[in-house]
Amino acid sequence: MHATGPAAGLRCQPVALPTLGQRVRGGPAQTSAVRPSSSTQAPASCSRRCSSSSGLGYQQPTRRLVHARSAETEDDGFTAAPNDMQEARIIVITSGKGGVGKTTSSANLGMSIARLGYKVCLIDADIGLRNLDLLLGLENRILYTAIDILDGECRLDQALIRDKRWKNLSLLSMSRNRQRYNVTRAHMVQLCEAIIALGYQFIILDCPAGIDVGFINAISPAKESLIVTTPEITSIRDADRVAGLLEANGIYNVKLLVNRVRPDMIQKNDMMSVKDVQEMLGIPLLGAIPEDPQVIISTNRGEPLVLQKQLSLSGIAFENAARRLIGKQDYFVDLNNPHKGLFQKIGEMFSN
Ligand code: ADP
Ligand code: MG
Repeated sequence: MHATGPAAGLRCQPVALPTLGQRVRGGPAQTSAVRPSSSTQAPASCSRRCSSSSGLGYQQPTRRLVHARSAETEDDGFTAAPNDMQEARIIVITSGKGGVGKTTSSANLGMSIARLGYKVCLIDADIGLRNLDLLLGLENRILYTAIDILDGECRLDQALIRDKRWKNLSLLSMSRNRQRYNVTRAHMVQLCEAIIALGYQFIILDCPAGIDVGFINAISPAKESLIVTTPEITSIRDADRVAGLLEANGIYNVKLLVNRVRPDMIQKNDMMSVKDVQEMLGIPLLGAIPEDPQVIISTNRGEPLVLQKQLSLSGIAFENAARRLIGKQDYFVDLNNPHKGLFQKIGEMFSN
């Protein structure tokens, strides 16, 4: 049976998709780390130097797909009350360096936001090396991927895997493992357009490591980004590089998540503090997640930390970050004094 709704519209025949030549006006090759250009001016509040110029790198989608950037790049763009949210938010979670916690963050933030009542679609944007399905425990339910949609093998709704625990959370994997496909930025934009047409309020893209074509494709539809880093100099340097590339590609609404924080090491001066990392990068902080063995346990179980009956500190920190992402609260979990955050959370559970 075929869908007749917007999803059916994405029963894409590859020939129906515009070619890169049609979309890019004299832009660089697809693999370039810089989107050809953007019509959006850098907002005055942009804290980092921006190298983008004017003009669109690809045709504007006919339907209004994303936010007016001017409104949401005001200082704290990560705010939207459930009822006020007019348009979907497309957030890419990136880092440059691999293994710093992008996929862990995508799974936990996505699940948390879904639990807060929003319709969320997680996209595993890694072509050939997916793993978000494992973290969510959905690996056995994937029959189709985005590449099958682009190949005209299935509809979007067939490739969207709905989480049984929280039905307003869905997962779309770009490809099967080791599968290769020449996905373009236009494909990514079209996929996100079609997902939004199904009523999704958040699209969270789990970006592959590196800054090559996979990164460029993943950031293409996004208007916001969350950069994940650990408090290590190698990760921070890559995060800084990625922040520059995001700006150059017209994404100014960027927040920072510092992962694998060890308060004991910070106290001994063996690790940079979250504040140090934030100041080095000059990116507003969304949250800090402690190093926690529970992360590995939850990964192996296919159950995001935020679903645990008794939340660990990292689970609380992810929930806190998710609530900040939707503008629900503004305190940070104190990693040195976790009970403070815990009591705040309990208090809030009663006040909500
Ligand atoms: P990425 O997607 O950036 O490559 P992952 O989310 O896959 O990173 O995480 C890489 C590894 O680090 C995984 O084994 C994961 O379990 C572990 N990890 C991530 N965050 C934490 C944390 N806060 N505490 C402990 N281990 C973590
Ligand atoms: Mg990953």
